[in-house]
Amino acid sequence: MARILVVEDNPDNMKLFRALLTLKGHEVTALPSGDGLIETIERSRPELVLMDIQLPGKDGFSLLAEIRASAHGSLRVVALTAHAMSGDREKARAAGFDDYITKPIDIASFPGQVGRALAGTPIEPSDPR
Ligand code: MN
Repeated sequence: MARILVVEDNPDNMKLFRALLTLKGHEVTALPSGDGLIETIERSRPELVLMDIQLPGKDGFSLLAEIRASAHGSLRVVALTAHAMSGDREKARAAGFDDYITKPIDIASFPGQVGRALAGTPIEPSDPR
């Protein structure tokens, strides 16, 4: 059980993430854009942030930079990268995300991916790091 902040602008994705995470007993805070991000972190005190890259307004890279520059700089932040954008994975690592999960998510794999993110172990075990 953990407190997880999900930043995601697609309502269907958010609904799915919330359902899967809640089913595992996690407490989900939902944010549809970066507006009020730091305030939301301070209010909800997440242990993990799942951050969409493509968002209205500031993108996930800008928002990660805001978190890293804040008093919450050591927060675990995992990018939600679009499957089609293969370059996003390397960009996500280079930008300082702790790891990434590819969208569309695999419903069966997602809870385990989040569990590994919370544990600080690599999300994709076969992934060279
Ligand atoms: Mn998006």
